[in-house]
Amino acid sequence: MPIVAVAVDAPFHSGIGHLLSYHSECAIAPGSLVRVPLGKRDVLGVVWSSEADDPAHSPERALKDVLQVLDASTPLSADWRGLMEFTARYYQRSLGEVALMALPSALQDHTATQWQQRLDKLANGPKKSRTRKKAASAADTNAAPIAVDAAAPVVSLDSKPLGKPALTAQQQQALEAIGSQAGGVHLLHGATGSGKTEVYLQLAERILAADPQAQVLFMVPEINLAPQWQALIQARFAPWFGAECVAIMHSGLTPVQRLHEWVAVHQGRKRLVLGTRLAVLGSFAKLAMVVIDEEHDPSYKQQEGARYNARDLAVWRGKQLGIPVVLGSATPSLESWYNSRSATAQSPAGNYQRVSMPERIGGGALASLRLVDMSAYPRETVLAPSLLKAMQERITAGEQCMVLLNRRGYAPVLGCGSCGWKSDCPHCSAHQVVHKSDRSLRCHHCGWSTRVPHHCPRCGSVDLAPIGRGTEQLQELLQEQLGSLVLDDGRIPQVLRIDADSTRLKGALQESLAQVHRGDVDIVVGTQMIAKGHDFRRIGLVAVVQPDGALYSSDFRAPERLFALLMQASGRAGRDAEYMQGSASTPELWLQTREPQHVLYAALAKQDYPGFAAVQLREREQAGMPPFCYQALLRADAKTQEDAQAFLRQVAQLARAASLPGQDWVTVYPPVPLTIQRVANAERAQVLLESTSRKALQAYLTALQPLLHQARAQAPKGLLRWLVDVDPMAI
Ligand code: ADP
Ligand code: ZN
Ligand code: ZN
Repeated sequence: MPIVAVAVDAPFHSGIGHLLSYHSECAIAPGSLVRVPLGKRDVLGVVWSSEADDPAHSPERALKDVLQVLDASTPLSADWRGLMEFTARYYQRSLGEVALMALPSALQDHTATQWQQRLDKLANGPKKSRTRKKAASAADTNAAPIAVDAAAPVVSLDSKPLGKPALTAQQQQALEAIGSQAGGVHLLHGATGSGKTEVYLQLAERILAADPQAQVLFMVPEINLAPQWQALIQARFAPWFGAECVAIMHSGLTPVQRLHEWVAVHQGRKRLVLGTRLAVLGSFAKLAMVVIDEEHDPSYKQQEGARYNARDLAVWRGKQLGIPVVLGSATPSLESWYNSRSATAQSPAGNYQRVSMPERIGGGALASLRLVDMSAYPRETVLAPSLLKAMQERITAGEQCMVLLNRRGYAPVLGCGSCGWKSDCPHCSAHQVVHKSDRSLRCHHCGWSTRVPHHCPRCGSVDLAPIGRGTEQLQELLQEQLGSLVLDDGRIPQVLRIDADSTRLKGALQESLAQVHRGDVDIVVGTQMIAKGHDFRRIGLVAVVQPDGALYSSDFRAPERLFALLMQASGRAGRDAEYMQGSASTPELWLQTREPQHVLYAALAKQDYPGFAAVQLREREQAGMPPFCYQALLRADAKTQEDAQAFLRQVAQLARAASLPGQDWVTVYPPVPLTIQRVANAERAQVLLESTSRKALQAYLTALQPLLHQARAQAPKGLLRWLVDVDPMAI
């Protein structure tokens, strides 16, 4: 009997490693989905290889049998399997874990028959399915396999014009620069409102028109941005592919919806795909281009389990397939910016093509920067009088304002005026945040929640007060300060808050955004959630209340993230040139700062990303930071900090003794506690690994895996878990 190697969902530390062997009655094509026994369970797996049994050494091998082959659809392609292998290898995870993570979970629950039926149903379209079911119910189980891999609908594309605007000169140049090449990675550096989206759409149009099977993947950093994009892509391509032409891939779908979309993309029935980071792991019948909007966004990095970076995987996948990958941003990541550098005397050009679109559509002005020096005001001042006055003028003129504060809740901590008690979370090294709406104290790290006490839990005093401020308080304050105005149309100014708390319920965010779009709202208060990508039309003023924190952060990426956030925030203002022309003033970005002279703000005032990036890259180069080196973190969580660090020291010692490949090029730093040292009763510590050679670091990490398992076996009892984070986003 042939032996097949099957990837099943098992992490490295289960000891199972990469692939399991099973007996099969006949050879099974690689990429086939199977059900196999694993322990007491019966699980989904992907066949990786199939080979004839060698009778010389296997009669005594008691392999279990493959239970079922789910062969109703084509096997997963070699290209997809290659991506899984790369992802597992690069991010130091087991192959099965990565492969099964990439597949819709609903597949796990399907037997071969159900799988066949479902595909059958999908291939025949949702409308027909009911009648089919009735007709087929008797013979259901042995329904003949059908051609589920039918080609995508053939349309005569050129006969149906797509409603699209004439491109501006710079859009046309960008389209040609990118579209004239068969593949390659292209960094589209375009100001907010420069019309990057239109370039993506017209690139997609070319690709889809040139090949009747081609598929295009659009990636966005957050689920929140998906509805806006879906509407846009759908509206554009409906004349060619029908109203339901976009497959959606993000974690907001139900398991059945996710399966539905996944199958449609796997079979090539949907030519357009829109998704968040997990979409990069999808199985495509014929992927022909990937667009990654806001490519700098840290959300592209998965922060648990297999910690992959979807942007980096898209670039890898694009190279393998020889297809174009378009990275778009007004503030590219310094990695991508560096990769798109032009040649200098010292170094050759990067391997990405850089394409710039500095101007806004319609010549709309970019927001001008107003810095308010908060050192002129008492510490407790939340909003400077000049800012309040400017906002009042804007809303009286019928414009909207946006106020950003990156802290949700009412206040970050509750304190006792008598004894100094603070609302510390009992499980974390963090404060519990005051939430006024439900009178709770909540830890944003572990979720621990209690009622706001009436008396100090330590000394009994009633002198308890919130310290600092969050979005809830800001909303209250703005309502107080501006709510007494009466606008021209007799309305009272409305202040709406948009943050993770206000949008917890399904549909709440879309409803809030709609309120802003309809003009029912005069001031939007929120966290960075509202700074990202939303196409607000009437906002004339954006204010950021406490931006300075990032200037003092120990995280070397903090300035880069702050600059991106502020550029993005300023991009929310004055998006509608026509609308803004009717208004007396130019759009503005207000910052309340105690560092008005800071170089970051000076670069921001000029909207000078290249200048900012040049300074940052010089600093990074001098300090030997990414992109001039590669990093990985080895992290341990334990009951005590000593246990966590002891494990990490043990690993380092084993590594030194074993003399691992690449070690001469890898610097291993001593263990240190994380900035937030304890979360949910776990003490956290980490070791930073650094190398100027990605290859050396990879070789080292791969060789380290068995040592981690060895150290785990001898680890102190308090050790809870460990993980490896390759190319970490936060150190
Ligand atoms: P970006 O993604 O670069 O921030 P958008 O793609 O959102 O910018 O474009 C800004 C606005 O300009 C959008 O409302 C878009 O519909 C409009 N727009 C884009 N290209 C054109 C064009 N060629 N002619 C007219 N309007 C355009
Ligand atoms: Zn007290
Ligand atoms: Zn906590």
